[in-house]
Amino acid sequence: MSYVQEILEQVIKRNANEPEFHQAVKEVMESLELVLERNPEYQELGIIERLVEPERQIIFRVPWVDDNGKVQVNRGFRVQFNSAIGPYKGGLRFHPSVNLGIIKFLGFEQIFKNSLTGLPIGGGKGGSDFDPKGKSDNEIMSFCQSFMTELYRHIGASTDVPAGDIGVGGREIGYLFGQYKRLRNIYEGVLTGKGLTYGGSLARKEATGFGLVYFTEEMLKTRGESFAGKNVVVSGSGNVAIYAMQKAIELGAKVLACSDSNGYIYDKEGIDLDLVKKLKEIERKRIKEYVNEHPNAEYHDNCNDIWSIKCDIGLPCATQNELDEKSAKTLLANGVIVVGEGANMPCTPEAVTVFHANNILFGPGKAANAGGVATSALEMSQNKMNLSWSFEEVESQLKQIMIDIHANAAIVAEEYGVKDNYVIGANIAGFLKVAEAMKAQGIV
Ligand code: NDP
Repeated sequence: MSYVQEILEQVIKRNANEPEFHQAVKEVMESLELVLERNPEYQELGIIERLVEPERQIIFRVPWVDDNGKVQVNRGFRVQFNSAIGPYKGGLRFHPSVNLGIIKFLGFEQIFKNSLTGLPIGGGKGGSDFDPKGKSDNEIMSFCQSFMTELYRHIGASTDVPAGDIGVGGREIGYLFGQYKRLRNIYEGVLTGKGLTYGGSLARKEATGFGLVYFTEEMLKTRGESFAGKNVVVSGSGNVAIYAMQKAIELGAKVLACSDSNGYIYDKEGIDLDLVKKLKEIERKRIKEYVNEHPNAEYHDNCNDIWSIKCDIGLPCATQNELDEKSAKTLLANGVIVVGEGANMPCTPEAVTVFHANNILFGPGKAANAGGVATSALEMSQNKMNLSWSFEEVESQLKQIMIDIHANAAIVAEEYGVKDNYVIGANIAGFLKVAEAMKAQGIV
């Protein structure tokens, strides 16, 4: 059995019932076989064994009282995965599906993603099985305050800096920040994705979606193509999806469809993004309401069927494992040129195999959606300097970071004999910086 295979078996045995974590580790490990052959000292130093074991895992009770006076109890998590190149950095996810395995898969991915940005940030992730859907503002605030009442002792502007993710947007970050400040009596950039009136960065809200489109544009350029005149399908209608749609439209594409966890809308005249923003960002309604104002658009109940729509560019921006082999084959049959992951691990391994086997450009999330965390790191810099940069300044830095991540992944893939394989390129490029830092810092 190979060294990598042995580690994988150990990870599966030690972390039973965490299939998403196994999936994420397997994908990275398979990419690293060649690196380990070229650098035997990584094996001697146990770099891989240390990388797959989080530095710290915190699980805590989150009690709160709902609007009917009933006591509710949720479970909170923070996994501080790796701090070799900087303070832990990664979002908080509030969704009923959250468990330790999901947080570990996200935290593990975050190590390599953060390294790829070129900025000094380590990997972490957290969240809760709390479901924000249908809760009043008061309930959201009670929950966030209780969550922070435990989390605050583990985080700090130079220790661990959480941000948003599924179910955690500007409103939640505000309540979390308020409670942190109250408990610590320190005004510091302990969270990113903050509001603009209290230390947030311009362009942070837009960053993941914009960055995804910049990365995808770089992939398209390698084939002499661009977004102009292309048909795009975007899954999800949350933070990442909305701003991916906005940038794709700005670059001259037509977005045909988007979704939420109930279903998808298909508007062959092109999605009315202002309406989607109103429904999802302001009114917090379901996507099916779209057809009330656009009766020519169609609403379909199964969100995963969104991939049956013919398109040139597919941008999955909802959640993990939402695009499977069958959907990948449908996209292939429909002539898709490129798939860029806005979400984390939205394409199953079988779907990725279909893309690679058929010359479809594929941008893995840890590279393609790294613009969000990169801009969070820019928010941290502004907070430390007590400065606010303009939207144009932040966006131009974001764009350059995405261009650099693309170039780095492409060059490394070619160097290792797998041209156009951005999965292997991103995994190796992200890994090397972390491995060298771990090597320099001794066995810790
Ligand atoms: P939001 O909560 O803003 O939006 C999530 C969207 O995905 C919603 O439309 C939601 O629908 C849908 N969705 C969530 N869970 C499921 C599910 N199980 N099945 C189908 N659809 C689902 O989250 P974000 O836009 O912030 O995050 C989306 C993805 O992008 C996640 O994978 C996240 O980890 C990743 N990401 C986010 C970053 C960020 O900066 N926000 C940075 C990098 C990656 P519904 O409203 O019905 O739940």
